[in-house]
Amino acid sequence: MKPLLSQVYSVLPVGLQSLACTADGYRRALGSFTSYFHQTLEDWERRIDDPVEVQRERQWEMLAELIERARAQAPYYRFLPPVVDAGDPASSIEKTLANIPPLEKAVYRARSRDFVARDIAPRRLHQRSTSGTTGTALPVWHTTERIAEGLTAVWRQRRSFGVKIDDPVINFTGQVIVPLSQRKPPFWRRDYLSGMTLFSMYHLSGRNLPDYISAIHDTPATYVHGYPSVLHLVGRAMLEAGRCLPPGRLRGIFTHSESVLAFQRETIERAFGAPVRDYYHSTEEAVSMTACDHNRLHVDMEYGIVEVEPVEETEEFVRGPLLVTGLGTAATPFIRYRIGDVGTRFKGSCECGRPGDVFLDIDGRIEDYVETPDGRLVGRLDHIFKEQYEIEEAQIVQERVEAIEVLVVAGSGFGERDRKSLEREVHARLGEGIQVDIRQVAAIPREPNGKFRAVKSSVGRIDP
Ligand SMILES: [Zn+2]
Repeated sequence: MKPLLSQVYSVLPVGLQSLACTADGYRRALGSFTSYFHQTLEDWERRIDDPVEVQRERQWEMLAELIERARAQAPYYRFLPPVVDAGDPASSIEKTLANIPPLEKAVYRARSRDFVARDIAPRRLHQRSTSGTTGTALPVWHTTERIAEGLTAVWRQRRSFGVKIDDPVINFTGQVIVPLSQRKPPFWRRDYLSGMTLFSMYHLSGRNLPDYISAIHDTPATYVHGYPSVLHLVGRAMLEAGRCLPPGRLRGIFTHSESVLAFQRETIERAFGAPVRDYYHSTEEAVSMTACDHNRLHVDMEYGIVEVEPVEETEEFVRGPLLVTGLGTAATPFIRYRIGDVGTRFKGSCECGRPGDVFLDIDGRIEDYVETPDGRLVGRLDHIFKEQYEIEEAQIVQERVEAIEVLVVAGSGFGERDRKSLEREVHARLGEGIQVDIRQVAAIPREPNGKFRAVKSSVGRIDP
């Protein structure tokens, strides 16, 4: 939300805030549930059990088309090598991609406009921004159709677990829908049209959690949507209070954007009485994987191709950094894009029977919670960095509840304005009561296991 809009929103009474959420939900639904979406969903649901050879053939056709189009329309790809037809689709894909160097984020960052296909009218482009695993904000451009394709993967997964599009949902959202100054429930707002109840991620304190739990029990919902770290916090409180949902009331807990750690999964499933189903997707709209009921991540083959740069390989799996190539109607072609996550591809086939590429896990984002002076635990703080294009990497460090330090690897254009805007974003989510120090550093150290920890807090860390 723009600062002015959020100021107006924050002084509205709760009922009107819910109406504003309803209007926003309606606007999004109009843009999302288009006839193209419904047609694509029908096609993809029909294709899900196609033999892998048929899926590979389709990927090959789409890749060849993507490469031709990228070369003709996107200035960055002008010198893209031509496709290699090696006879069968799998080898053609492999040989064609092997000729193209991986695309690094730094290159995309420096020349992002050159990646946008010129045959798409600017009015058809939606700009979004990604913060990714290391706090690097990147602008990306998509067509409505591409966004619908991402949504198709999500809905194909949900529908396979018996969830319908107009089912009521509990959604723990990253948007600030409840003003931080609010001290009493409700810490949620309703979208009256879609039946969605939006729960605030920013009011989760020991004092407020009992109210959240009551609301979860009272809210009609078929499924839950949210970040695993946030749902874990709520689930833990439900278990401690002995107030779990009866098993089977919900059809599934759909998580995204972070690795689901084993202890988180166990707590969430026990508390909410339903299985956790993860999906892996990125704002670049170049990769999509959806978990089946064996908890394996299936690559949505119509959506993209995922390669693994092998670091560790056995007869069973291959593990390493992922290179992703988006297929379909991309306005911004991402070809062999190093997304920044490490994955483990299973070489066998999944017991669920769905053909195609399968991953055992993706090591995505990990972070601690920040604890605020008023006792809230706030997780998943990447929203702070979403519009901060002058920041190359960022990490939030907390040693005591009164203060946080934001370590910033700054781009060449980083100045006082960016510093102020960053401070504003921090206070918008953590409140005015916390002291914020922004410190420019040359690099951000990785954890001993090589992973980047986006939020490092010695007071807000929850160990299994
Ligand atoms: Zn499976």
